[in-house]
Amino acid sequence: MFDFLRRLMYGRYGSDALNQFLMVIALVLLIPWFFTHWAIFSILILALIILIYCRMFSRNIYKRSAENQKFLAWFAPIQRKLAGRKMQMQDKAHRYYKCPSCGRTLRVPRGRGRIEITCPHCKRKFTKKT
Ligand SMILES: [Zn+2]
Repeated sequence: MFDFLRRLMYGRYGSDALNQFLMVIALVLLIPWFFTHWAIFSILILALIILIYCRMFSRNIYKRSAENQKFLAWFAPIQRKLAGRKMQMQDKAHRYYKCPSCGRTLRVPRGRGRIEITCPHCKRKFTKKT
């Protein structure tokens, strides 16, 4: 069985981060389809699954890899941002604010009442409740 799979996948591209992402989108689309049964969702899901399989069994490894690199260049900053948000949510000892003038994220201790925050980068002062 594994030998069969190995022979089937020989010289073919296989899966990558882009395929996993497309799979997640297909799974997310299942939710509205489940409630509405609108044809548009089933068409989209089917198209995604066909696309995923075409990419997996593609012999043009160079082109598929280039697609994946493009996807990662677009997705990596989003992933970093989400990871940062998650870390901020888990941090119960601090609050995070964005500086209104330079946009950087500032961390202040929680539970100090109203405090004046001075941005260490641009020296702008603003008041927030902690
Ligand atoms: Zn600032």
